[in-house]
Amino acid sequence: MLSFLRGKERLRSIQVEISTACQLNCEMCPKNLFSSRWISALMDFDLYRTISEDMNMFRYVHLQGWGEPLLNPNICDMITIAKRKRCSVGVTTNGLLLDREMCSDLIKAGVDLIAVSVAGARPETHDLIRKGSSLEDLKQKLKDLSSVRKVEKRPKITLTTIMMKNTVHELPDLVNLAREVGADELIVNNLDYIPSPDLGGMEVFSPPGLEPEKHILESIERAKLLADKLGVRLYVRPLKMEESVVCAESPLTNVFVTYQGDVAPCVYLHLPTKERVIPRFFMGAGYLVEKLYFGRVDSERLRDVWKKEIYRDFRDIFYRRAMAQMYPSSFPGKIEIPEQCRTCYKMYSI
Ligand code: SF4
Repeated sequence: MLSFLRGKERLRSIQVEISTACQLNCEMCPKNLFSSRWISALMDFDLYRTISEDMNMFRYVHLQGWGEPLLNPNICDMITIAKRKRCSVGVTTNGLLLDREMCSDLIKAGVDLIAVSVAGARPETHDLIRKGSSLEDLKQKLKDLSSVRKVEKRPKITLTTIMMKNTVHELPDLVNLAREVGADELIVNNLDYIPSPDLGGMEVFSPPGLEPEKHILESIERAKLLADKLGVRLYVRPLKMEESVVCAESPLTNVFVTYQGDVAPCVYLHLPTKERVIPRFFMGAGYLVEKLYFGRVDSERLRDVWKKEIYRDFRDIFYRRAMAQMYPSSFPGKIEIPEQCRTCYKMYSI
């Protein structure tokens, strides 16, 4: 099961932050909330080439971090390079630059997945939350993307959204929207990173021991029934907090590389801000978590960073937790979560 740890299999994915810049100011985004300390930058193409030397360690490359990847003018060449390394490639975009020419260039470059973020199914919801984006414009672009890909049957088109108190009732309408624009699936995430107390209470998941509110469950149920009927694949993140053995970002198999080449376990441990710490609001309290990264690919090979003792020690905690679940008698006692992860909702199935 864990044979990739013995180096026999390629790791699952590398997420490469080719942009930290974005045209939008979304209500829940740290770029909006920390605007005065945000570093808006595009990854240098030479740095990307350096990273790509070790891309064959991975099966999948996702070109996105805390910014809009289509702003990077080299994106199509970046996709082509990753494809040459026999990786599948995906991007998550706000869709603003997704005109017919861009769609066709991305498809020619070989992109396998285009995920487009949407906040709600009604213009008054989406446009208010994703400030700078227009739902009507986005719908047209998605329809164009669907028609451009008809010849090649690729890429997969995904709509992604974040469930919040003010949007969750629109989930069934979002299923309709996915069908209308020709998307293959709708992925419904939680507000899993809460950067500021201003957003506290906007999440729809429940603390341990409490059940999610009835109207939220009903909205999800209606969305599921409709998705079945319309043939739209629907994935909804869990709503009940439960400590995971390995978090949903799986640092055992996934790597994040920032716009400047820092190698981190996940996006939640490296924001493009000027400070060394990341503000988090978790279970009603505020925390400052030290950014965590294990090396930099402008001075070290990615595969050497992956093998560093300090990085292995971090992964080993998750590895031992996974093994303890399978073989409890061989791993007696509780194996504690890494400190930086204790206040991360992804560690609790969210
Ligand atoms: S628990 Fe959170 S911070 Fe820790 S590795 Fe997983 S996603 Fe990253």
